[in-house]
Amino acid sequence: MTLAAPRPAPSKLAFVPFVSVDNMMRLVQSIGPETFLTELAGFIEADFRRWPDFDKTPRVASHSPDGVIELMPTADAENYGFKYVNGHPANMRAGFQTVTAFGVLSSVANGYPLLLSEMTVLTALRTAATSALAARYLAPEGASCMAMIGNGAQCEFQALAFRALLGINRLRLYDIDPAATAKARRNLEGQGFEIACCGSAEEAVEGAQIVTTCTADKQYATILTDNMVGAGLHINAIGGDCPGKTELHRDILLRSDIFVEYPEQTRIEGEIQQLAADHPVTELWKVMRGEAEGRRDPRQITLFDSVGFAIEDFSALRYVHAKLPGTGFAEPLDMLADPDDPRDLFGMLERSKA
Ligand code: NAD
Repeated sequence: MTLAAPRPAPSKLAFVPFVSVDNMMRLVQSIGPETFLTELAGFIEADFRRWPDFDKTPRVASHSPDGVIELMPTADAENYGFKYVNGHPANMRAGFQTVTAFGVLSSVANGYPLLLSEMTVLTALRTAATSALAARYLAPEGASCMAMIGNGAQCEFQALAFRALLGINRLRLYDIDPAATAKARRNLEGQGFEIACCGSAEEAVEGAQIVTTCTADKQYATILTDNMVGAGLHINAIGGDCPGKTELHRDILLRSDIFVEYPEQTRIEGEIQQLAADHPVTELWKVMRGEAEGRRDPRQITLFDSVGFAIEDFSALRYVHAKLPGTGFAEPLDMLADPDDPRDLFGMLERSKA
């Protein structure tokens, strides 16, 4: 068999910048993780504040016994973005990530992709930035200590975002797997956090004003029970994000003021799937625009029922796209056909034989 001669290199316009995992890590390190999280939170907040400008739909989910694969699209007048993401809690035991992702940002004007990016690291960053941003509106004033239940891949990113945006430096860690807590302790002590490792979720929440639940289990789990939730607590629940996959006992929901991203999606996937379809919830974007109240009283229990919404990924892609010029942290990817005559696609294929 003879190999075809390489076809001529496409024009620069046809190349799409691709940010690999390696380059994403370089970008984050060059900016500094906490600066990255703070700036990214700024992009997310700006986009939440113009919520009505976006095309919105609950993500398209394909469920299987062990997990889910989802597509998360959204668009404004200028850009279209989508993320491909999975959630497979059993992956970790086989040495794979529970959550992996990649995404695309495109021009609405001509439909051409502007950026293809890894989004596994970027999802951890955008989830953390969104959590901390929500907590800025919902956590009790003067909060200084956070309990973190579930010390897997998302954990350290959450901690860094809460320090960057709220100044939280004291953490109480718990995971059913002590190796996960040991890993998080090592990483977070290296970042200068004051850490207490706890033997149970109940012990972890003692003295904390914020609790982040970040576990992965494909069932109606009960990470927090009602007796563990005292007045004034802010709960940042990020692990319950699929039908049949929740973290909080229903009684907690009945005592909390619940804040969500996009109700149409959260009612299917979030903690509130345990409640009646008309149970009142507040949309976070309205709080950010001053059209709804966030925390109004120090004894109120607030719950951010986070599932992750497409606009957060759109903001993250927009942020990375804005930061890339001049960095060299993207590779040109030949993924768009670029014949000399746009109608002569076949001719281009024929000429590739030459
Ligand atoms: P991971 O598998 O790396 O970590 C999960 C950790 O939870 C593991 O260390 C596991 O031992 C621990 N765990 C499981 N059951 C527990 C229990 N009963 N008590 C205490 N710890 C327990 O997963 P990850 O990437 O860190 O993701 C965590 C969760 O967050 C997943 O459910 C994922 O789907 C979800 N997630 C949500 C968003 C969002 O936007 N809301 C974004 C990313 C991930």
